Amino acid sequence: MSAELPQVDRELRDYFQVVFGIDVTGSDLDETVFPTFEEAIGVLDLAAARDETFRELESSKIRLLRHYLVRLMTDVIKDKLDRPNSYHRQLAKNLAKSGEISDVVVISTNYDTLIDNSLSFIPGIDVDYGIEFAEPERPEPRMAAGNSIKLYKLHGSLNWMYCPACSTVNLAPFQMAALPSSCSRCGSQYSTLIVPPTYFKNISNVHLGMVWNQAELALREVQHLIFCGYSFPEADMHIKYLIKRIQTHYDGQLAITVVNNYSGKTEESITDEKDRYQRFLGTNVNYTDISFEEFASDW
Ligand SMILES: [Zn+2]
Repeated sequence: MSAELPQVDRELRDYFQVVFGIDVTGSDLDETVFPTFEEAIGVLDLAAARDETFRELESSKIRLLRHYLVRLMTDVIKDKLDRPNSYHRQLAKNLAKSGEISDVVVISTNYDTLIDNSLSFIPGIDVDYGIEFAEPERPEPRMAAGNSIKLYKLHGSLNWMYCPACSTVNLAPFQMAALPSSCSRCGSQYSTLIVPPTYFKNISNVHLGMVWNQAELALREVQHLIFCGYSFPEADMHIKYLIKRIQTHYDGQLAITVVNNYSGKTEESITDEKDRYQRFLGTNVNYTDISFEEFASDW
């Protein structure tokens, strides 16, 4: 039976078996604890960077496996992109209504394209990613011109396709990730420009470095930082550093609000999170009990 599986499924099956000891063809998958996407892709990226591999895993497979994992991730989010009533879409609508789009800077640590997709529905507004794209694969999503909303994705994006030979980034439609597809200029295989935060040692990719730089410049102009759905994890030192720079650059006291409640959140995790924010950013952080859903629908 396994011989009938398409190549992508066979490769991923072998990968999870060899590296994580998981039989993805097994019957008890509901009980199985899978690695996170960051972990699954992180070990591949580190192996490639160190020119190493794993026992029973050919090094030539590493890039291909990365592509396959990205494709899995893209498939998972694809369904969510078409929901017109999603909270992301509501937030975009309310932003548009407020008439303050040009004063808003959106920073995202997610690679999925949910927020991008929602913002692109605002009439007459383009998404400005802070990247110079070589050329869009298709006219949609449009590149920033005229009225735009700044959206800086600090860990990259599933629709950013990086050509390591040309050192250019191309923009794919939101529904697609860089599948084993190649650069229209030089024929090299694209790699999706995403950098999981867990081993984010330095911003070696020049395009991503530019995004961080633009984010810092733009954030210097804001008067109010609102953290949504972000737990201020210990590991994200680069983000903490960025925020600290913004905060210390500001004349006076920067307003900081946290919106990250959800039903079922334990008292303990609320207290820990509040402590993390206030320990690093000061006791004036307004730590609310508002959820992202409430925030998105009640702008
Ligand atoms: Zn190229």
